[in-house]
Amino acid sequence: MAEKPPRNSAIGPNGTTRTIREPVARRVWVAAGGRCTFCNRWLLDEEHTGEPVFIGQLAHIVGWDTTKGSPRGSDSMDVHDRNEADNLILICYDQHRVIDSKSLWDVYSADRLRDFKRQHEHRIKKLTELAHRDSTTVLRLVGTIHGSPVQLSQSAVNEALVSVGQHPSYALIGTDEYEIDLRKLPGEKEDAPFHWNAAVEYIRDRLRRLGALVADGTVVNIAIFPLARIPILIALGALLDDTVPAVVYPKRRGGKEAWGWPAGGRDQGFEWSVLDSGSDAPKQATVLFSVSGSIEKDRIPAEATDVARIYEIRPAGATPNFDLVDTPASVDLFSRCWRAVIADIETFPDVTAVNVIAAVPTTVAVAIGRSVNASVHASVRVYDRVEHHANYTFTLELPR
Ligand SMILES: [Zn+2]
Repeated sequence: MAEKPPRNSAIGPNGTTRTIREPVARRVWVAAGGRCTFCNRWLLDEEHTGEPVFIGQLAHIVGWDTTKGSPRGSDSMDVHDRNEADNLILICYDQHRVIDSKSLWDVYSADRLRDFKRQHEHRIKKLTELAHRDSTTVLRLVGTIHGSPVQLSQSAVNEALVSVGQHPSYALIGTDEYEIDLRKLPGEKEDAPFHWNAAVEYIRDRLRRLGALVADGTVVNIAIFPLARIPILIALGALLDDTVPAVVYPKRRGGKEAWGWPAGGRDQGFEWSVLDSGSDAPKQATVLFSVSGSIEKDRIPAEATDVARIYEIRPAGATPNFDLVDTPASVDLFSRCWRAVIADIETFPDVTAVNVIAAVPTTVAVAIGRSVNASVHASVRVYDRVEHHANYTFTLELPR
């Protein structure tokens, strides 16, 4: 089927057309990225058949003449300027009918339409200026959090990445909805040990695919969007290969689904202390991460305190709370503090187990695992609050 050129005419409410100069029409089509200014629909092919038919129309913001039936035509704009690019928008047929229907002229005022045009063209320009080298590979890890399945939309991810000048690549997605989807694993409700182990093995398997794509140069860096239980995020951090740069994006707090660091966050430092030296030759170390909340010491099971040297990491000069860690630099400051604790633990040669009890945000959870990777020689056991248990309960041992 022969492809028709883009319409270089504009269409009025009664179906009459007005010829638009070719360079003007081309300018409006290109600035709109071939998409509807209102609904972002792709206008270069017919949706269902894929036939190359232009389904877009050029519409006047201020109607082309001043007669009564001309939408927004009573505006003071000179009629000679009305067929210029500034007064034209690219739009789909459906939306065109809406903005030109007489009862809605007040809703779709000229100023309102100019706002739509400005925003749409700005967004198209922003998106298309991302160069290929700015591409980052998305890794979403989705589980269930205390019984509720979570979701993490592609558009929310795209928005977070584009706002920091990164172009999302979904090379890891495979046939699933997400890159790593733990929602169908058995035992989550019961918090059974096999659930935690199955999750770790599943993540390990998915990261093997990541390893292959890193090896052949398809993936050069990754953007992690984690939405799962804290022990699983710590395990993810431990399983990630240190050679791939990875940035973890936090979910914003509040109703609307949005990801990324809030504007104007403050860097937060951390400090560590020894709560109990255990003995001269401790057999295990227990680290309490009181970041988003305080770890309740009387809920730590005896197995984790027996002949244990007990540490606590806390925010410096602040009470633990959910909004403390809101810059990437804060996560780095946390990691530095945690590595200092690891260095101290390594001076006790009899320590064979490190117990981790963490009240932390997701970004810090991944950071806990990443620092453990090569530098801790003892086995690392993660505890968490699980449903129907008053005390912290052993969940999983970190994989290596
Ligand atoms: Zn539309």
